[in-house]
Amino acid sequence: MGVAVAAVVSLTALAGCSSSGDDESASTTTPTSVGGSASSTVESTPSGPAPSTPADASVCRSSACPSLPTPSGQVKASGVTAANADSTVPHYLDSLLDDLDETWGGWFTRLGWGDPAPGRVLIEPGTRFRTECTAGDDPSDSNIPSDLPNAFFCSLDVQANGDGKSTKGSIVLPVKTFQGIWNHEVFGVSTPVAGDFTAATVVAHEYGHNVMYRIADVLGLSRSSFPTGNNPELLADCLAGNWAATVYQRDALSPKDIIEVATLLPVIGDPGPNQGHGTIRERATALTVGLTGPQFNRQGQPGDCLTRYWPEAF
Ligand SMILES: [Zn+2]
Repeated sequence: MGVAVAAVVSLTALAGCSSSGDDESASTTTPTSVGGSASSTVESTPSGPAPSTPADASVCRSSACPSLPTPSGQVKASGVTAANADSTVPHYLDSLLDDLDETWGGWFTRLGWGDPAPGRVLIEPGTRFRTECTAGDDPSDSNIPSDLPNAFFCSLDVQANGDGKSTKGSIVLPVKTFQGIWNHEVFGVSTPVAGDFTAATVVAHEYGHNVMYRIADVLGLSRSSFPTGNNPELLADCLAGNWAATVYQRDALSPKDIIEVATLLPVIGDPGPNQGHGTIRERATALTVGLTGPQFNRQGQPGDCLTRYWPEAF
């Protein structure tokens, strides 16, 4: 990595997550129509998805932006309980990542934007993981334990993706922390209702960060064109809502799932404005826009999230 100065991740905050990696993921290719520059004509092609070559952000500023495909695979109850969490959680986390790979992979394919599947790190109990995102001079700084009260995406970590392919940009999930969810312990906070969809929302949010970085790579965006303020987090929330909408389409979103998300929000929301992740209200809005669109009246889509939370590029 050479430039291991990426200490941007605040892994201690009870913030649902942190994402980072300063930079190389933003490639050095020539930026293409970034941020509403004059030359980018907004097309409105009513007939839906048309792969754009080369990668062009303008498709997702219009109705040409493809919808997120609903996978044929079912989203089944995890079967995880407080009693069996030790043995069942890793499999559930993998199954969530598989479903997210399939869902977002289908969307990237529609755009001709390649395979977005991130590297995966499940930090098993008793083990630790060294992430490049906090690697400093002291190697012990970056040993992430399995009970880290957080989860994150690091754009610098190179790990195997779901197909075993070494991939730069990885989702890091501390297994012991996730096991605690079925004991109603969410990132160190005791909550009344927690379970499958608490975990699913967190994983889908981290995947949302991955989607942002993959898009930046495909479009050749530099860091100066990344979302700013709370928007990277709200974009990840919104994209998590897009995935949740596909779960709803598959008749697999229960009232309990919704309550689990509602219960998660106070744990991950910032107490005040402009603190990095978004307040409870902002995060609830982002998830809801992702789930039900900007007017809350239809299935939410990636284009809704990109135009709202990433105006620098969309
Ligand atoms: Zn995040």
